[in-house]
Amino acid sequence: MNNKKDIKSLTLSELEAEFTALGLPKFRALQVFEWLQVRGVTAFGEMTNLSKALRAQLEEQYRIPYAAIERKLVSQIDGTVKYLFALEDAQTIESVVMHYKYGYTICVSTQVGCKMGCKFCASTLNGCVRNLAASEILSQIHAAQNDLGIRISHVVLMGMGEPLDNFENVVRFLDLVSFERGLNISARNISLSTCGIVPKIEALAAQKRQITLSVSLHAPNDAIRDAIMPVNHKWNIEQLMKACRNYAHMTSRRISFEYTMMKGINDSDSCANELGRLLKGMLAHVNLIPVNTVEENSFHKSDQSQIRHFMEILNQYGVGATVRRTLGSDINASCGQLRRAANSAPATSKEVSI
Ligand code: SAH
Repeated sequence: MNNKKDIKSLTLSELEAEFTALGLPKFRALQVFEWLQVRGVTAFGEMTNLSKALRAQLEEQYRIPYAAIERKLVSQIDGTVKYLFALEDAQTIESVVMHYKYGYTICVSTQVGCKMGCKFCASTLNGCVRNLAASEILSQIHAAQNDLGIRISHVVLMGMGEPLDNFENVVRFLDLVSFERGLNISARNISLSTCGIVPKIEALAAQKRQITLSVSLHAPNDAIRDAIMPVNHKWNIEQLMKACRNYAHMTSRRISFEYTMMKGINDSDSCANELGRLLKGMLAHVNLIPVNTVEENSFHKSDQSQIRHFMEILNQYGVGATVRRTLGSDINASCGQLRRAANSAPATSKEVSI
């Protein structure tokens, strides 16, 4: 990566300020902004309504981060598309595009790797290499839209990485992606998933955005959660639930709890009852997800009948729950598996410290 400034992470007003300082007319900033944010061009040469001289000037001062398609897998079952993207520094990240009745949803990554250490997750096996810039999160959407010739209407921050461990860039991404002169994807069509970084949930709540907060709970008590999610040692379930209740209160948005069903670990009737008691009366919904078996660990999917039974128990507490439909199962469309396969050598990992 060279040391030119990342032009694509700038908001329109920041770009206008830069252009004013360069002695360029303000309307040029909007033109450039639209090339970057609406069309997702990756070279100044493509900005055909700018003079060649201006394109050359911009080229000298700025760079446009991108996500280049390194591999692309298309599910034969449901058309789900999984990308392995290469970034400017040759690091790779994954994104998945899913087609639902209401349109296209993209699942984007927010970090190269992850340091949170959840025992069942492939993204974290080699630690976190680096944060993604806002531009790099946006570029995943642009690259997929341009490749597939579609418009993506929904975004989930559920790919590789912990979004709240990259708070500033993720918030900047949220501002840019829902800006009306940019991709204009409404906050209500965006979900952010976290393993439970409590102070950052509080910080996000204070911003009162209309995005959906998804919380990866995966256990109804600290004993189980401690064993599968190291983050729980730092912020336990009681602290997490307090932050979630506050988030729901501040934003009036229902919290979505992710609960990965792992046979013999967290899927008993007593776990369901405990979870029902924990969430009873809360503005919440539970997504039950059969765990995806990762080669490096030994977690197995719960039986279908137990997943349904678990859901019925939750319903008895008035807690809404659904079983997540598995998309792209033939292309391993989740959890950092493609990047691992591509990187046979371990990434430069950092110590797990949170
Ligand atoms: N770091 C964020 C977002 C990325 S993970 C988070 O923890 O929420 C997206 C979701 O996939 C999380 O709910 C995560 O717990 C879940 N997940 C990770 N590995 C999985 C696996 N092997 N099977 C099923 N879900 C998994």
